[in-house]
Amino acid sequence: MVPQALATALAEAGRRMDARNWVPGSSGNLSARIDGERIAITRSGVHKGRLSEADIIAVDYAGQALAEGQKPSAETLLHCQLYRLFPPVGAVLHGHSVAATVLSQRGAITFSDYELVKAFGFASHELDVVLPVYPNDQDMARLAAFIEPLLERDPPIGYVIAGHGVYAWGTSVEHAYWRLEALEFLLQCELERRKLP
Ligand SMILES: [Zn+2]
Repeated sequence: MVPQALATALAEAGRRMDARNWVPGSSGNLSARIDGERIAITRSGVHKGRLSEADIIAVDYAGQALAEGQKPSAETLLHCQLYRLFPPVGAVLHGHSVAATVLSQRGAITFSDYELVKAFGFASHELDVVLPVYPNDQDMARLAAFIEPLLERDPPIGYVIAGHGVYAWGTSVEHAYWRLEALEFLLQCELERRKLP
């Protein structure tokens, strides 16, 4: 049900995220848009660094598995929301890095004077780029409903759930990985910068 190329790309992205220590335990989830009715996403409870193609399952835009007995990642609704709101989005990657987890516990994150913000299409480093931080919630429907108007009003470069982890997206799995890598670099820089006297 999931095209082989998408499953392979997601499994590979999971291995790369694991190599960077962005998906400890069975945390994180990865997805890609199949078409206007289906999304490919990692199933619940598997290690994202050791994904097989069978670990990538198809869900509808309401987050329901399309094959009986399959359980998608707990945060599937947040992925579905991004595909629904933003038609160019082709893949969504979510990880639990140390930098995203720790920094988001201190409130809003603003990147100032970083060359790498240009990875998100900005023409210059001479601006403040906000990475929104939303409060964590174990009720995904409630969290998605809270986030939705904020995403619609001012589409961000990504977002972080406080004390939890980062969401990044792009037009393809590879593009989403690049953007995640840029976000993680900026988060790591910011974490290091705040340690300086
Ligand atoms: Zn998570």
